[in-house]
Amino acid sequence: MIVTRFAPSPTGYLHIGGLRTALLNYLWAKRNGGKFLLRVEDTDRSRHNEDAVSAILEAFKWVGLNSDEEIVYQSQRDEIYKKYIDQLLQEGKAYKCYMTKEELETLREEQQARKERPRYDGRYRDFDGVPPEGVEPVIRIKAPIDGSIFVDDKIKGSIEFRVADTLDDFIIARADGNPTYNFVVAVDDALMGVNEVIRGDDHLSNTPKQIVVYNALGFQLPTFYHVPMIHNESGKKLSKRDGATDVMEYQRNGYLPDALLNFLIRLGWSNGDQEIFSMEEMLELFNPKDISKSASIYNLEKLNWINGEYIKSKSRDELAKALHIEPTPVIDLVKDRTSTLIELSSEVNKILNRPTEYDPKSIKKHFKELNRTLLGEFLEKLKNGQDSCDEAFGHILESNGAGMAKLAQPVRIALVGVAQSPSVLDVISILGRDEVIYRIESFLASQE
Ligand code: GLU
Repeated sequence: MIVTRFAPSPTGYLHIGGLRTALLNYLWAKRNGGKFLLRVEDTDRSRHNEDAVSAILEAFKWVGLNSDEEIVYQSQRDEIYKKYIDQLLQEGKAYKCYMTKEELETLREEQQARKERPRYDGRYRDFDGVPPEGVEPVIRIKAPIDGSIFVDDKIKGSIEFRVADTLDDFIIARADGNPTYNFVVAVDDALMGVNEVIRGDDHLSNTPKQIVVYNALGFQLPTFYHVPMIHNESGKKLSKRDGATDVMEYQRNGYLPDALLNFLIRLGWSNGDQEIFSMEEMLELFNPKDISKSASIYNLEKLNWINGEYIKSKSRDELAKALHIEPTPVIDLVKDRTSTLIELSSEVNKILNRPTEYDPKSIKKHFKELNRTLLGEFLEKLKNGQDSCDEAFGHILESNGAGMAKLAQPVRIALVGVAQSPSVLDVISILGRDEVIYRIESFLASQE
């Protein structure tokens, strides 16, 4: 069974890039009838922050990517890490290192003077003497001394990390006993049964160290997929200004969760020229080995377009629910014209609420003598009640030999405050005769 995971560090909020990684893991597990797990990497107590954890979980709830098992918190697993550190010590695969900060500093200066890469020199690797007094040791793992570690990455291919260039006997537990990042990630992934790891390629350089831990503990290696980062349109790492922000910010800006997921799946993955993918289609088609080797480009216009397509495809009731309003036919009238829920809400309100002001530009352009006369006649016909609103509209254009816009534009201004709105006859029919009369009278009064 395929088991994947997403492992956020609670440093603030769930970042859009993180959500993309989570989605890829979710899809791949679900597509194979496997499990998708969540692990909160909160070992760094100084930064650990409950609010950040709740913010991340809130975002997951919003997008509906649920963990198949209880969420794992690294901060609750000290005993487990300690057990494996002790095991490695007992087996001679890890050792205590008593080097002081000053000694490490001296070593580094010497190496730099020789233009060598700073690395631990293994001086306590086979130490069996009397430990120096007053030094709390760190625990280091025995990494290979030479040769290479290969990461068999299913997106990037096989990647060689030469031990001489990239590794040393790295620390797995600090002097205070706290285990280090790469150690706990490997232990957790192995114990949680994670056998496919899909994550950002900013983690690629950690992978050889994690492989050392897997090997030392006799755990089976997972399959790795390192996904290229999301870039902005100038090819740089996505910054906050480009949209690299809190997933919940997308909610606040009127994006739908399924549209956002659809947008994210298209970053670095495609199926022909298809742009819109339902969750079912994503589940049917997605395979992480098809992820592009190059960085993907974040494009806000594309997100807006996709979101607009999702808004169009939703029912009146669904949209009303998303907007926290009663279902109104106005929603159907305007939904094709909007790309976010914010826009949708503003378009709906534009029609439902009486205008509080009239756009001067629209008035200047569309409220000339003839239009004024036509609007007055229309009002009279509505009030006398013989014709339906539609008929009244048609009769006036006909008897004056005027084109549609001559009456439609001033009516729009009177009804919604600007000369832009959906079909004016639709708006009239939704508002009803009395409301239309009221709004036209108010408008005319404002122009006296
Ligand atoms: N906690 C890491 C992060 O938030 C992810 C670790 C991993 O995926 O291996 O970037």
